[in-house]
Amino acid sequence: MTYSYSTNAVHGNFKEREAFGAVIQPVYNSTTYIQPELGKTQKYEYGRGSNPTRLALEQFLANLEGAETVYAFSSGMAATTAALSLFKTGDKVLFNNNMYGGTFRYISRVFPNQGISYEIIDDFNTFNFDTVGDDVKAVFIETPSNPLLYVSDLKKASAAAHKKGLLVIVDNTFMTSFFQKPLELGADIVVCSTTKYYGGHSDIIGGFTATNSPDIANRLKVLQNTLGAVPSPDDCFLLQRSIKTMPLRLQRQTYNTEQIIKFLSSQKAIEKLFYPTLIPEQRSIQEAQSSGSGAVFSLILKDTYNPSVFVASLKLFDLAVSLGAVESLVCHPATMTHESFTSELRLRAGITDNLIRFSVGIEDADDLISDLSAALKEAGK
Ligand SMILES: *Cc1c(COP(=O)(O)O)cnc(C)c1O
Repeated sequence: MTYSYSTNAVHGNFKEREAFGAVIQPVYNSTTYIQPELGKTQKYEYGRGSNPTRLALEQFLANLEGAETVYAFSSGMAATTAALSLFKTGDKVLFNNNMYGGTFRYISRVFPNQGISYEIIDDFNTFNFDTVGDDVKAVFIETPSNPLLYVSDLKKASAAAHKKGLLVIVDNTFMTSFFQKPLELGADIVVCSTTKYYGGHSDIIGGFTATNSPDIANRLKVLQNTLGAVPSPDDCFLLQRSIKTMPLRLQRQTYNTEQIIKFLSSQKAIEKLFYPTLIPEQRSIQEAQSSGSGAVFSLILKDTYNPSVFVASLKLFDLAVSLGAVESLVCHPATMTHESFTSELRLRAGITDNLIRFSVGIEDADDLISDLSAALKEAGK
């Protein structure tokens, strides 16, 4: 019997019942495990290498991702670091132009020390993979992208990249496997920050890698143990609790976002709106590869509206980085989430100084719309 995502999100980690029949997974805080005798080990030895609570989380996530192997990390960046540690001196990796700020910080600050190079690609949908050199070993795609919600066709890009023998890594943080399963679309590795939708309550920093390749899984396992950025058993427990409500939260957050997009589309204060379904070409890619568009959108106000007054007038959207949690947030990418970008790259990617990004929570949609409406009026005074 196969169950739907929402059912697996509640029951998926109970393949093996806990010893006392507890309905939730217990937390094993022990850092070390007794060896029965010299030269003989059991399933668990040392907490960095493996931990029962972490393994329960990893199996729970693997079931939801449709992945053979998931490894949990102490942050999304730790998962990205592990995936990018598969490369060596002389290798080159391709990235899309608006990516998570921390990912750009990594490739601009850490890659040079390792002799690994990168190239920023403006549009993977039109990129000719036949032009890449032998040094190019992988593509790293974020779709929809952060903060401009640009949609890349994962099936098409993966097929073209594989033809050239490249590894395909997808940062699926904005969608989660509830809406989008990159491994089914051709990706070799998914990286994800669970700090966002999986955690969903602004109280856990975490991440994971997912893959169906036994060879990649073996290499990532070594990196998880060696780099050592593993989540605590308590965080693994809390994340399992959070995931059970993720489908409900994402449905509500996405519904709210769609209502807000409808409202903002008719507002004369708005110069430009960014959401995956607003441009027909982008919409058809998004609908083919995902079952929803998520709860992040960005906008630019017309010149006659003051963005600072707009943001300051919002009462339900807290001014803070991050996204995906139950509370709505607003941020200014140029100074908050994408300050690691060079000003040239920000300009090239379209992350202008007047761009404002929103993460929509689970509040009442009408309340959020009233709040936005009142703030727009203030900003236009
Ligand atoms: C937040 C985020 C990350 C990094 O995750 P952390 O848990 O903050 O380390 C990576 N990619 C995307 C798209 C993100 O939004």
